[in-house]
Amino acid sequence: MPINEVNVIRSCKECNTEIETISVKKDNMRLITDEMTWCPTCNKDTNETRDIAGREDSIKIEQDSYPPVRAVE
Ligand SMILES: [Zn+2]
Repeated sequence: MPINEVNVIRSCKECNTEIETISVKKDNMRLITDEMTWCPTCNKDTNETRDIAGREDSIKIEQDSYPPVRAVE
């Protein structure tokens, strides 16, 4: 059963404060965004960065995003 939803951490680009964690469908996931987000630490709207929560998830998504590569052992 494939995991269709991933947790994405939204954080402030300037001070790195974690703003919130959102659950998004993988198909709709955008890690690069121009959206401005209110940062309570900076006390202003800032650019946000998005990161996938959990390293295993991000590896899995990366693998899913590319054609299969034969592992060299
Ligand atoms: Zn900030």
